[in-house]
Amino acid sequence: MISLPENLFHVAAVSELRATPASMSVSGIIHASQCSLAKARSIVSLCRHPHVPVLFSTRWKHSDTRRYKAVIFDMGGVLIPDPATLVAEWELKNCLQPGWIWKTILTGENCIAWERCMLGELTFEQFVENQTSDIIKPCLQAISHLNDQIPATREAIQCIRAEGLQTALLTNNFWFKDQSFLPVEKVDFDVIVESCREGISKPNPGIYKLCLERLKVNPEESIFLDDSGQNLKPAAHLGMRTIKVGDIDTAIQELEAMLGFPLRGYVHDTQAVRKDMEIPTDRLKEYLQTTLGLNLTEPLTLRQFIHGQSNPTYHVQSGDQQLVLRKKPPGKLLQSAHAVEREYRVMKALSAMGLPVPRTLAICEDPSVLGTSFYLMEYCPGRVFKDPTLPGLTASQRKDIYTAMNHVLCQIHQVDIHAAGLEDYGKYGNYIKRQVCTWTKQYRASETHNIPAMEQLIKWLPNNLPTHEKTTLVHGDFRLDNLVFHADKPEVLAVLDWELSTLGDPISDVACNCLAHHLPPDFPILKGMNDLNLMEFGIPTDLEYLTLYCDNMGINPVENWNFYMAFSFFRVTAILQGIYKRSLQGQASSAKAEIAGKLAEKIAELAWMFAVREGFRKFKSIPTRSPSPPLRKYSTWNRQSSSAATFLSASSLDDLSRHMVSVPKGHLIISPEGLPAQVQELYHKLTVFMDKYIYPQEQELMDHQRAENRWIPNPRMEELKREAKANGLWNLFLPLKTDPEVKYGAGLTNLEFAHLCEVMGRSLHAPEAFNCSAPDTGNMEILVKYGTETQKEQWLLPLLDGKIRSCFAMTEPQVASSDATNIKASIVEEGDTYILNGHKWWTSGAMDPRCKLCVFMGKTDPQAHRHRQQSMILVSMDTPGINVVRPLSVYGMEDPPGGHGELIFKNVRVPKENILLGPGRGFEIAQGRLGPGRMHHCMRLIGYADRALQLMKERVKTRVAFGRPLAEQGTIMADIANSRVEIEQARLLVLKAAHLMDTVSDKEAASEISMIKLVAPNMALHVIDRAIQAFGAAGLGSDYPLAQFFGWARALRLADGPDEVHRAVVAKLELKR
Ligand SMILES: Cc1cc2nc3c(=O)[nH]c(=O)nc-3n(C[C@H](O)[C@H](O)[C@H](O)COP(=O)(O)OP(=O)(O)OC[C@H]3O[C@@H](n4cnc5c(N)ncnc54)[C@H](O)[C@@H]3O)c2cc1C
Repeated sequence: MISLPENLFHVAAVSELRATPASMSVSGIIHASQCSLAKARSIVSLCRHPHVPVLFSTRWKHSDTRRYKAVIFDMGGVLIPDPATLVAEWELKNCLQPGWIWKTILTGENCIAWERCMLGELTFEQFVENQTSDIIKPCLQAISHLNDQIPATREAIQCIRAEGLQTALLTNNFWFKDQSFLPVEKVDFDVIVESCREGISKPNPGIYKLCLERLKVNPEESIFLDDSGQNLKPAAHLGMRTIKVGDIDTAIQELEAMLGFPLRGYVHDTQAVRKDMEIPTDRLKEYLQTTLGLNLTEPLTLRQFIHGQSNPTYHVQSGDQQLVLRKKPPGKLLQSAHAVEREYRVMKALSAMGLPVPRTLAICEDPSVLGTSFYLMEYCPGRVFKDPTLPGLTASQRKDIYTAMNHVLCQIHQVDIHAAGLEDYGKYGNYIKRQVCTWTKQYRASETHNIPAMEQLIKWLPNNLPTHEKTTLVHGDFRLDNLVFHADKPEVLAVLDWELSTLGDPISDVACNCLAHHLPPDFPILKGMNDLNLMEFGIPTDLEYLTLYCDNMGINPVENWNFYMAFSFFRVTAILQGIYKRSLQGQASSAKAEIAGKLAEKIAELAWMFAVREGFRKFKSIPTRSPSPPLRKYSTWNRQSSSAATFLSASSLDDLSRHMVSVPKGHLIISPEGLPAQVQELYHKLTVFMDKYIYPQEQELMDHQRAENRWIPNPRMEELKREAKANGLWNLFLPLKTDPEVKYGAGLTNLEFAHLCEVMGRSLHAPEAFNCSAPDTGNMEILVKYGTETQKEQWLLPLLDGKIRSCFAMTEPQVASSDATNIKASIVEEGDTYILNGHKWWTSGAMDPRCKLCVFMGKTDPQAHRHRQQSMILVSMDTPGINVVRPLSVYGMEDPPGGHGELIFKNVRVPKENILLGPGRGFEIAQGRLGPGRMHHCMRLIGYADRALQLMKERVKTRVAFGRPLAEQGTIMADIANSRVEIEQARLLVLKAAHLMDTVSDKEAASEISMIKLVAPNMALHVIDRAIQAFGAAGLGSDYPLAQFFGWARALRLADGPDEVHRAVVAKLELKR
């Protein structure tokens, strides 16, 4: 039964969905659950689906007598004809003494062989082969052909399952033709226990217990039917109710009496009429005869459709005549609730326009007939697909089904609402706005805890509403399982479930239709297919489906599709949250309530993911680069000067041009004002974000790093991450070159990101907030470049989402690791795995509890060429054998919670497929990894330096020594000037390196990358040191970020290669020129 709060919950929502002037005025009065015909599930009513335990009360709550949870059937003589009958007929036909065959089989050697056959030790063929009597053999073979299921028991099973009880098959059977002998519909059973598979047979009590265990029921909660008294005894002994099956009809009657509901007259998707939903059949019969003029000679039988309990729907049958009746529920109802009249109206109108809807027959608004208003329509048999993956169909059949669904949706949206007389069926325009408002209210009314993604959506949706909304008839809950298809053809016979129909934005129907595309297959409310290779299945992706829709409708592509998906999942979340709240208030167990709560959070995150995508899409659609080159003020043309060459001979000139650093194409953007418009917008957003969220919280974030709980990630940082994501300031680092389809990142070039990276560098805490911090950035880049799809799924996506963190383990205490060929750790192949051994240190990020992935470098082949010995492999941090020994510190700074760990890898087994790119390719990957990473370090260092200079300027203007402000002291002025000069120089060089990486290649930019890695840390050290000096003692303390800046700038003269190594690279390349 639906409780009152549940009804109230749906009221405003449904009235808004319909948005009729009448219902709008009575918010809080309409039941949202719907039903029509054989299928009646709205998103709302879906949430009360039987497979979601938390979400609704069990169907049997209305009856105290229903204590049974499962019915267990024997096979021979119960589900299929009794072999004994067949044998008896055989004996008669062959003039054998009655009982002779069984007696022969069940005595002596034969009996043992028969038992072994039941236990699966002998096949049926072997058993028959061993028979000495040639008369028995053909008889036994005839038994194996017994494969007609008894219709009466099959129907009883369907009735039992429709009432929510489980069914099981418990049989003594055998192996026959390489399969177990099981000539029944397996889908009819929740559990099948076969003696030949289990190696145990009836009447051994063990097999009954096994069956009960798998059903998860107590013996007293089950009924067992068998035709052998011997097999019933142990069942009864265990406490199961038993029925001895002789005559099938009698047994079914007995079972009916025990269960308390009918086991005949099954109609797909129906159950026995619920006690509180019964209707007087005599009055109905009279109505049908007088109003519809039906000649009803046979008695009326009624069954109730399973879904749609708030507006009960009945299958009415008399002989061959079948109808569907849908009515308002009994009891006191608020006016205009359960508007069956609206459904009748829309279906009637559509039917007249030739749309596939069940034909309506009559509406009766006189409560004296059946207690409440009701209407009648034709029963429309056909196929209803509950599983969107369409199991059992071929790829091309699936495609046809989806095409037919798309076609019928277009038909609905193309209905001329005036011609159909539906012009007052809802409001015009602003449908989505009103919907967002309604569902926000619903959500707030049932809010139990903070769901961050919902908060973001509540802010985001109203600001991103569609600007051009069309108004058409909308179905409101258009899904595959609301359609009845022709039994053989891909043709929609009827669209059901019109309760949420109104006038509104048609794209919302398309988005609702595509919910399953993004849900997991085990999603309890609506089976999803996000794990499927849709192409293989012949099912269009959501975008293909949308394109088909737009083509069919003759409209332009829907650019803000992500918005509609975000909105659709937002709506689902609001519904789930309502259910969660009710489950907390009701009797649901806390575990079950928790499931509903978690679902709400998960769906909110999914909705938010679409919102983020939409943010990126909008950002990218802002008009980009101006056609004319930017002003000189903002950019510089990068040309190689040839003046020096005039002093050289012609041949050395040739030589020079051959060895010249590649000349980049395009212009070098040297300040943010020269950036393309959309990057400028990002830049602006970023600076606002830094001012609003980062700088004000710096002190607190720093204090946490010194607190006792410093190794636990700071929740404040998680909040910052959410806020950054909400602002589209997320994963900006991933270069367009690496991710050309902009699948994972924001599609910025290295040069564009460099400008943003400098801003992030102004605070030590900022890069993580934007998911742009090392070593994750480098690791994500190698996963994008070299990872397999599975590796991407497992590691890249959660890293991109900021849910996990990672580390990179190369450096070792025992060897000079600045020369990577020295790395000693071993990666040894053994069967399907590699075994890792090694001692690593300075592994940044390894201390973080969120660190789940380690990119490990070691030798796979110590005999190979020195640059082919090393490999990189992905290691899950929870693999046995990894021991994090201690955190290391830089000038006493531990950099928690990531830290820099010392780690021992002892016999760590890693699946072979975790190797990146292949054995011996470690160097190659390292080169790919380090280019952008070094540029990021350097731009951040420029950020440190610029901030230090800014702080220094502020300080010296206000501090007075020896009679005048420090700013007026000559040495201080010189320090300021030198700092500005050095920052500008370093920045230009780093930008040039980034530009070369974009326009030529990382490899050809090798010299510049080494130059910046040499220049930037040293420059930053000088600038920061001057600032510290100007600050006096305060500069060394923790009230300002200067000391920390200094420490990390110093570390970067070593990390990612010491200065000397980079100097050597530059020199070697220079000498080659
Ligand atoms: C804060 C921090 C974080 C780090 N994070 C990581 C990480 O996440 N993962 C990781 O694997 N490693 C990391 N490291 C380690 C770093 O990469 C190594 O320290 C660096 O590569 C140098 O290796 P090494 O310490 O073994 O020094 P060594 O190789 O022993 O070198 C010591 C010194 O020898 C000199 N030298 C070396 N080569 C030459 C040359 N050609 N000419 C002249 N002199 C030379 C230099 O002065 C050099 O500093 C990190 C280091 C720091 C400080």
